[in-house]
Amino acid sequence: MTRALIIGGGWSGLAAAVELCRQQIEVTLVEAAGRLGGRAARIQHRGREYDSGQHLVIGAYHGILGLLAAMGVSEDAVFERRPFEMVSLSVRSAPPLSFRLVDLPAPFHLLGGLFGAEGLSRADKWGALRFCLAAARSKDLREDFTVQELMYRHGQSPESVSRLWEPICLATLNTPLHEASAEIFLRVLRDVFAYDRRDSDLLLPRRGLAGMFPEPAQKYIEGRGGRILLNSRATRLEISRGMATGAMLADGTRLDADHVILALPPPACLHLIEGCVPMRLLAQRLTGFDYAPICTVYLRYSSDVRLDFPMVGLHGTLAQWAFDLSSSGEPGLIAAVISGPGEHMELERGVLQQRIVAELATCFPHWPAPEEIFTLCEKRATFLSRQGINSQRPGVETPVEACWLAGDAVATGYPSTLEGAVRSGMECARRVVAQSARRA
Ligand SMILES: Cc1cc2nc3c(=O)[nH]c(=O)nc-3n(C[C@H](O)[C@H](O)[C@H](O)COP(=O)(O)OP(=O)(O)OC[C@H]3O[C@@H](n4cnc5c(N)ncnc54)[C@H](O)[C@@H]3O)c2cc1C
Repeated sequence: MTRALIIGGGWSGLAAAVELCRQQIEVTLVEAAGRLGGRAARIQHRGREYDSGQHLVIGAYHGILGLLAAMGVSEDAVFERRPFEMVSLSVRSAPPLSFRLVDLPAPFHLLGGLFGAEGLSRADKWGALRFCLAAARSKDLREDFTVQELMYRHGQSPESVSRLWEPICLATLNTPLHEASAEIFLRVLRDVFAYDRRDSDLLLPRRGLAGMFPEPAQKYIEGRGGRILLNSRATRLEISRGMATGAMLADGTRLDADHVILALPPPACLHLIEGCVPMRLLAQRLTGFDYAPICTVYLRYSSDVRLDFPMVGLHGTLAQWAFDLSSSGEPGLIAAVISGPGEHMELERGVLQQRIVAELATCFPHWPAPEEIFTLCEKRATFLSRQGINSQRPGVETPVEACWLAGDAVATGYPSTLEGAVRSGMECARRVVAQSARRA
């Protein structure tokens, strides 16, 4: 039986493990931390559980939905599906912006929604409609440019950019407009709005990030005889005659395998392949990534505090979005999210929290003061989806035979997301299965 060793128990590594177990490959997965999920996990704080950062999941995440279905987990058990609606409140004197998708097939659901949008001038609505039509028809770019340039080329007004496109770009690419890749942004817009109206649905987790995928995946893998070793850091990739043969762990254990999948973000991957001559070019590529932070400020209010929508955009504030986590069984819990780099990263934690509390009090004056605040700022939340990055992203194949690369940085065309991570893991699994079949 073919043995696969997966290094990293984030969503990419788990996706690879699930897919390999489905194909009767013997799986061992090693994870350095004491829990699975990587950047998208559940953590403890003062006796309560929180997601390791607020995550947005949408109907276009077919990789994740397909894998859940393959494990026999019904979507309804994990997510509450809601049609996308955009509502954005401004602390400046601007009126709220809102639009809901209309009951038509894609992309007309979006076009109709924009047509009926409130808070955008007639000229801005037409401009946005023209841009969406062009985006739906667009093909891969011959040469990438920035989203700012894309907005300029499509005549989007400063108001449309700051109220509509910038928050969407930050929420999906976690990259400021002047750096963000137009190629990746267009791909996201097409996947979300151009093909099937259900792709733009919001998928609200019923039990937080762990219940969404890591927990069902662990149950599935172990139920199929796969081994998961927590608190097990791999320190060296073992290579013999140009082929990966396993890895060394920090405690001195050597794990042998016929295939090794490195399901790691670039810096962690670089540690493992350091000094490995055939991997020199890959290592160079992996050093070419920059990273962007995401801060999530969790505010616990009395349980009657609700947003009228699962997520509400905020304009003229540090936080760009506020999420109501009542659908995850946490009534009164609001997550305020600040995506991308900015002055907030320099602020002392207490000052940042006070700023967010004040912003929410301005937008929702009838709310009481929060009873508890917990802030998580992840400096390297995602890689920066900057102009030209797609051409630098490595594929799943590495120069060492039987060694594969997974993780959200792999060239899937997606920004740094759960879906990109899962797709990369599944692609690695497919390659392992195909190669084992050829060897047999
Ligand atoms: C705050 C925040 C908000 C986000 N918001 C969104 C969102 O709204 N929507 C979205 O789709 N995505 C979002 N993302 C991005 C998403 O979480 C990531 O793209 C995804 O989790 C990456 O998964 P991965 O498996 O590629 O990497 P990781 O999650 O980084 O997993 C790698 C794993 O490898 C382990 N590891 C590292 N070194 C070793 C070693 N030597 N040996 C063994 N194990 C090792 C690590 O502990 C980790 O568990 C967000 C991320 C953050 C941090």
